[in-house]
Amino acid sequence: IAMYAAKAAGRNRFAVFEPAMHEQVVAQTQLVRDLRTAAGSGQFSLLYQPQVDLRSGRITGAEALARWHHPLHGLVLPDTFIPVAESSGTIDLIDDWALGEACRQLAGWDAAGLPRLQVAVNISARRLARGDLADTVRSSARAAGVDPARLEVEITETATTSCADEAARTLQEVRALGVSIAIDDFGTGHSSFGRLRVLPVDRLKIDRSFVAALDGRAGAGSIAGAMVAMGRSLGLDVVAEGVETAEQLDALRALGCSSVQGWLFGRPVPADEIASLVRAAPPVPALPGRPS
Ligand code: C2E
Ligand code: MG
Ligand code: MG
Ligand code: MG
Repeated sequence: IAMYAAKAAGRNRFAVFEPAMHEQVVAQTQLVRDLRTAAGSGQFSLLYQPQVDLRSGRITGAEALARWHHPLHGLVLPDTFIPVAESSGTIDLIDDWALGEACRQLAGWDAAGLPRLQVAVNISARRLARGDLADTVRSSARAAGVDPARLEVEITETATTSCADEAARTLQEVRALGVSIAIDDFGTGHSSFGRLRVLPVDRLKIDRSFVAALDGRAGAGSIAGAMVAMGRSLGLDVVAEGVETAEQLDALRALGCSSVQGWLFGRPVPADEIASLVRAAPPVPALPGRPS
């Protein structure tokens, strides 16, 4: 029995290769076909996970996370369908839809009287490589009547290393619209200090595996600490993802992290629940000496 890393099943998980694999391949082919029709037929939705600014202690924005409601299989999570969408090319449709939907939601939150929120949208390396991302961002924001400066685009380190110059140029165009650029899952890829310095980047999102190491043991948080220091020395905001405990929050605050996101503050929820969370008391006390 051969072991292989089951990419679609997510990082660090292994599956056993056996005759059932044939069925899996067939299922995969069907999944590709289903994805193609799903994009245009209202089967996707976005959930939003709150992002908390540590200076003010308030929710200042949210990350948009896609969900697929498959007519037969029910809820399908991104770790299952994003890799399939990337290898089959349907990711472009999904990412563009997500941009449009996130802009419409910003307008919806405004109409509900909420303070001006930011929204972060995940964009795959493949979509970035197409080169016309700025056009889509511009037209999505315009159609919804929102300022593109309220958008953030999250890309992984890998997206910036393949076709590096092309990707940098596209990001530059997107950033020129006022959109901020975040490097997602920072620390799990290959971006070098030198590369980060020349890329048009505003924020680093520390991968949750490093946040999980902040469990109070002496030295365990040193990698996260080094990442925050690196980000700050480059003049970047540092966001920690996957914050689950008060202990992790305290450690991140002490390290000088600027924003946090994770189950401690809220799981990804439908847009109207974000509205209730924003209206509730700030989840974290403001930093002393800072206006809130
Ligand atoms: P990501 O961008 O790194 O998003 C964070 C993931 O971590 C989300 O999983 C979120 O639900 C989960 N998470 C958040 N807080 C916690 C926590 O405190 N603890 C734990 N254990 N997990 C937490 P999700 O929603 O399943 O998304 C998985 C990945 O799928 C995302 O990772 C992103 O890379 C990708 N993705 C999601 N939506 C889109 C999309 O519209 N376009 C593209 N291209 N990729 C997307
Ligand atoms: Mg993300
Ligand atoms: Mg992430
Ligand atoms: Mg991730």
